[in-house]
Amino acid sequence: MKRYEIEHDETGWRAMLTPDEYRVLRESGTEPPFSGAYVDTDDPGAYRCRACGNPLFRAETKYHSGCGWPSFYGPVSPDAVEEHVDTSHGMTRTEIRCAACGSHLGHVFTDGPEPTGLRYCMNSVALEFEGAAESRGQGYNKPD
Ligand SMILES: [Zn+2]
Repeated sequence: MKRYEIEHDETGWRAMLTPDEYRVLRESGTEPPFSGAYVDTDDPGAYRCRACGNPLFRAETKYHSGCGWPSFYGPVSPDAVEEHVDTSHGMTRTEIRCAACGSHLGHVFTDGPEPTGLRYCMNSVALEFEGAAESRGQGYNKPD
């Protein structure tokens, strides 16, 4: 089995994640469409892996696909995620996993917008949004 930079045993993952997060990230589950926290998020910032904090997507690449899950046209870098062939549910799809910890994030489809033509269809519970205000830290909220 492939070794990842960040690894925990099943007990460790269960202790770190909520049951919903565990089911998606560690058991390749899918949250119901239009249920996730980030489906309509437009705020500037970045999305990290909920399991390990690896930076995965930037808000600038997020778009409204109408599919019911947060959608991006590309990851922050090609090596942030990895692709696996997924033949479950009678379909052949391309699964996307976090390259740092191997957790399941969602799938990628080829009906996305320019410039990549790709749609990274991700589960909200697999992601952790970090707003630009938070990453800018002190001084951002100063009164005007
Ligand atoms: Zn990860």
